[in-house]
Parts: sequence; C-alpha cells; structure tokens
Amino acid sequence: MAQAEIGLIGLGVMGSNLALNIAEKGNKIAVFNRTAERTREFYEEAGSLKDQIVPCETIEEFVAAIRPPRPIIIMIKAGDPVDQQMELLKPFLEKNDIMIDAGNANFRDTMRRFDALKDSGLTFIGMGVSGGEEGARHGPSIMVGGKEDSWKRVEKVLTSIAAKYNDEPCVAWLGENGAGHFVKTIHNGIEYADMQMIAEIYGILRDGLNMSATEIGKVFDTWNKGRLNSYLIEISGTVLETADPLTGKPIVDMILDKAGQKGTGKWSVIEAQNMGVPATAIEAAVAARSLSSMKDEREAAEKTLGLPGLSALSVSDRDAFIKDLESALLAGKIGAYAQGFAVMSAASKEFGWNLPMPTIAKIWRAGCIIRSQFLDEITSAFTAAPDAANLIVTPAFSTMVKETDGALRRVVSAAVLAGLPVPALASALGYFDSYRRGRGTANMIQAQRDFFGAHGFDRIDGADNHHGPWGSGLVAGA
Ligand code: NDP
Repeated sequence: MAQAEIGLIGLGVMGSNLALNIAEKGNKIAVFNRTAERTREFYEEAGSLKDQIVPCETIEEFVAAIRPPRPIIIMIKAGDPVDQQMELLKPFLEKNDIMIDAGNANFRDTMRRFDALKDSGLTFIGMGVSGGEEGARHGPSIMVGGKEDSWKRVEKVLTSIAAKYNDEPCVAWLGENGAGHFVKTIHNGIEYADMQMIAEIYGILRDGLNMSATEIGKVFDTWNKGRLNSYLIEISGTVLETADPLTGKPIVDMILDKAGQKGTGKWSVIEAQNMGVPATAIEAAVAARSLSSMKDEREAAEKTLGLPGLSALSVSDRDAFIKDLESALLAGKIGAYAQGFAVMSAASKEFGWNLPMPTIAKIWRAGCIIRSQFLDEITSAFTAAPDAANLIVTPAFSTMVKETDGALRRVVSAAVLAGLPVPALASALGYFDSYRRGRGTANMIQAQRDFFGAHGFDRIDGADNHHGPWGSGLVAGA
C-alpha cells in the first residue's frame, strides 16, 4: 500500500475536519488520536474517503505509515499537551521529519519549540489555521511559519486544502519559527475588534433606536451587500434573525451577555504593548470581553449607579443615522485593521521575519473568520504602497478614512451623549485623531516628567537646554 503523504494527530473538532479535507483533496493521510476509540469512530464515519485514510492506534504504526520526510500535523489542545505529544513522537522520527503544530499556540511557545529542535535533525512548523470547523473541512486560511525547506515539503498538500479567493489559495509561508502563529494571533486580535464593533453598533440600534433583533438583522443583511460585506456581518444578520426553538423569541435576546476568551486577543495586546505599537481598538475589544464576563458586578453597579440617565439617543433623521452607523463601522474597522497590520510590521522587524503584508491580507480574503471584500482592498493598498508607514496613509485608505470618519465622530458623539458604551469605536476614533495630528500634547508630558523626575526633554528649536527652570521663579509672560 502506498504510504501516506502526511500524518495528523488529534481527531477533535478541528483535526477530524482537517483530515477529511486533506483526504478529500486526494492526499493519503495517516491519523492518530490519543484515545483510540475516537480514531475508530472517525474512520467509520469517513465514508467514501476511507480509501485515503490510514487509521493508526499506535504512534509506531502511525509514523511508519507516512512517506519520509514525514510531515505530521498536531491538532490538539494548545499548551502543555503539544509538548507532551512532541516528546512521545520524537523517538520514532527520523532526520528531516517535520512536526507541525496547527493549534492556537502562543508564538513564543512556537519559537521555543522551533529552537529546541534546532540540533535534532527534526524540524518544526507553527501553523495558524483559521475558519473554525467549517473552514477546516472545506477550506481554511493557513498561516505557515518554519524553515522554507519544511514548507516546500507540505506546500502541495496545504495548497490543495486551503480556501480559494478568485482561485488563489489562502495559504502562505510567512517566515521562520513563530511567524505563522504570530500572524494567526493578530488575525484573532483583529477579529476581537471587528466583533466588538459590530456588537457596539448592534447595541446602538437595539438600545438607542429601540429596534428589534429581526429589524437589526435586516439592516445587517443590507450592509452585507455593500462595503461591509464580510463573513462576520453575514453571520451577525443570521444570528439576529434566528428564533429560539424554546421560546420562539429571537435567540439573541435569550443569550446571556457574557463572552469568553481563550487568549489570542490578550496575546495580541501584550505583544503590541511590548513593542510600543498602539492597538487601542483591539485593547478595547479585549477589555470589553473581560467587562462582559463581570455580569454580577455590572448588575450590582447598575443598581448602585443607575444607567447614565442622559437623554435618549438624539437622532433627527433615522435613515441618515443608520447610514452613518454603516460608515462608522467601516471607519472603526479601518482603525482596527490598521493597528493589527502595524503590530505585524513591528514584529516583523523585531523578530526578523520579513512578513509580507500584501500576502497576509491576501490569505485572509477567504477561509478565515475575518474574511471580507475589505481585505481585498487592503491587499491592493499594500501592493500599491508596500512601504506605507500605516494602512491609513495609503492613498486608498486615506480616502476611505476621510470619507467615513465624520460618520464615526457623529456616531461616537451620539452614543456617548446617550450613555451607550462604544469603547472600540471610540478607540478607533481617538487613534485617527491622535495619529493624524502633527502637533500633539506630549510636550506637556515631557515637561511633567522633567519636573518630577529630571528626565529632560527635547526642544522644538534644537537648543541645548534640556531641563526646565522649574522652581527658579522664571514666569512665562511676565
Ligand atoms: P477539541 O477539544 O475538539 O479536541 C481536542 C483534541 O486534543 C482531541 O483529539 C484530544 O484527544 C486531544 N488532546 C487533548 N489533550 C491531549 C494530550 N495531552 N495529548 C494528546 N492529545 C490530546 O479541540 P479543537 O479541535 O477545537 O482544537 C484543537 C486546536 O485547534 C486547539 O489548539 C484550538 O485552539 C485550535 N483551533 C480551534 C478552532 C475551533 O474553531 N475549534 C479554530 C482554530 C484553531 P482525546 O480525544 O484523546 O481527548
């Protein structure tokens, strides 16, 4: 029997769907799961794809079933289980075999694993996979980090299973060691901001305009035909229009306003802060999730403080305001993506990856959770202006910012006056306003720091006098 082209360990939600996708695209695959019963069950359910699948119940049998150099995808619970699985696998592997961690790893773990294998003859790929269960089964977006030689060994298989946008596969080798997992992390950070901004706009429509879930769903459906066309807007519309089988009410109204998080949003923010890159919209989204989880505290605070008690949302022309909401969401989105790409650009320099920005935008156009028409526009913008300091100063996006930031300002102002929380949208607006202002206010910060800590300051006239005469009695204007 011909050997398998690739192996996969971990037949959970993601691994089993990825394995079926690999098999369906004509690649023979060996599979193994810690609990052998799951392997048997998976094989039984594989139907016509069984011919392409080699189910294995021992690691030894599994390794022997794969053509060397063996690429082995590990798609299991992230963290320590991956280290444990790698240790169990190592004794059976040979020179040039490739262990591929396809889970949601912290890129720092990926760098550590990559380095640890340096002198072993084995190689390591950290691979970000986005698109959830459906993407894994029918075409995910795949972000690969590792040695270029290792990538060459898996390129054909991964290209065959990746999502396609206009026939272009949504998979790319992005650089060595942690590059793939870092880009996946920032993808998720942007996803947090995108989702939060959609939720904030939903909140304005629900609590400001008193619209029903179904009515809001219809607004989202309309937006999905325009510039906001994206998977997240599409599913948000569907969510809003879906009834609860138990009560018949819109299901969204029956769902608790508490959202969990697994870490990639937080990692995005930590890495942004470590590099001194502002990612305020992503930070606001992560903080909003944390606040959401404090349900009991929020309810108690509402009893103590009451709602802001300001005026109801003041809107003279409802249709025009809804159009403003659409533009505001687009502007906010631009801010979040600009920040995410700025973080990747800084990381590329910090870790020596040479991350290709147009390629990253390209492989996010389909397959992943943030897939959208908008990413095609980002691809074009970065292709036309590869050295731009920030997405918002590329010719295409500076025009879009100028077209939409007025609406963002009106929406944020109206929401703030009505006491409706819009932390991510307001952060994007604050980012635009700070980033575009040549003369800011940090002269005051410099002066304060020099005053209390003798930190010195830079002068606008270049004169060689870097400390203030604090306490000398010199008085301005006297
Ligand atoms: P599941 O919970 O469905 O499956 C977990 C798998 O991990 C099972 O095969 C389980 O084996 C295995 N496992 C757990 N602990 C160990 C261990 N110590 N040693 C060996 N195997 C172990 O997880 P998912 O498929 O959802 O997620 C897998 C990875 O993919 C995670 O890193 C996740 O973050 C990532 N991911 C998930 C996405 C999603 O939408 N679900 C999207 C993108 C990435 P057993 O059957 O023996 O318990």
